[in-house]
Amino acid sequence: MITFHEVNKFYGDFQVLTGINLHVKQGEVVVVLGPSGSGKSTMLRCINRLEDTSSGELTVNNVRVDDRKTDLNKLRRKIGMVFQHFNLYPHKKVIDNITLAPIKALGVSKAEAAETAMYYLEKVGIAEKANAYPSQLSGGQQQRVAIARGLAVKPEIMLFDEPTSALDPEMVGEVLDVMKALAREGMTMVVVTHEMGFAREVADRVIFMDQGKIVEEATPEEFFSAPKEERAQLFLSRLL
Ligand code: ADP
Ligand code: MG
Repeated sequence: MITFHEVNKFYGDFQVLTGINLHVKQGEVVVVLGPSGSGKSTMLRCINRLEDTSSGELTVNNVRVDDRKTDLNKLRRKIGMVFQHFNLYPHKKVIDNITLAPIKALGVSKAEAAETAMYYLEKVGIAEKANAYPSQLSGGQQQRVAIARGLAVKPEIMLFDEPTSALDPEMVGEVLDVMKALAREGMTMVVVTHEMGFAREVADRVIFMDQGKIVEEATPEEFFSAPKEERAQLFLSRLL
């Protein structure tokens, strides 16, 4: 579903990604760990080309993401993304936040988009807030709306970039529960998170990044019981 082959990325002279090789299969949940500044967000953003790669090959569903001729709108329709800060439109009601992309990008009718939006709002447990504005919702509720918005274009892949990092602790669980349900349903997911419990329970694979490189790739059992890399050991010891 997603393949990085020897991907490098520079910001000017600064190499932010070095020789990234990664293969994510359909239905797999890959959790990306690593210290701040190690390139996790950049790697994730390359997948839907919010960032350009500098060299190497990156394919999503056999389509070359790094090809200038690739239709970005078509690519991004297959990929939902959820950010740390929910990035909802503050002046639009919850439901209108969700119907916007299907109407604009997919040409779905208003009625059908609303029906789909309600389906996903129910799925994330927040249908009663359809007509509220984002500011009237808690952080956890806003993030669940953001997930529903990502799902409403019926993507094949969901990318999550520290989706619970901006939340008060008591709201982390409700967002992780929605993500766990998605994973169980077979969604292909790449998740940057510091939630080790989630990684242990849900990840098929854990990758650990440091200074722009994937330095360890393992099952959660292997990674958490005996990380091979010293940098991974240090990272884990600091979290405990
Ligand atoms: P992470 O998500 O692991 O914290 P990032 O991918 O955000 O790491 O950043 C990796 C490195 O790239 C950091 O050193 C960061 O300062 C740098 N960086 C990120 N975005 C830019 C940018 N637009 N221009 C220059 N440097 C950047
Ligand atoms: Mg980041």
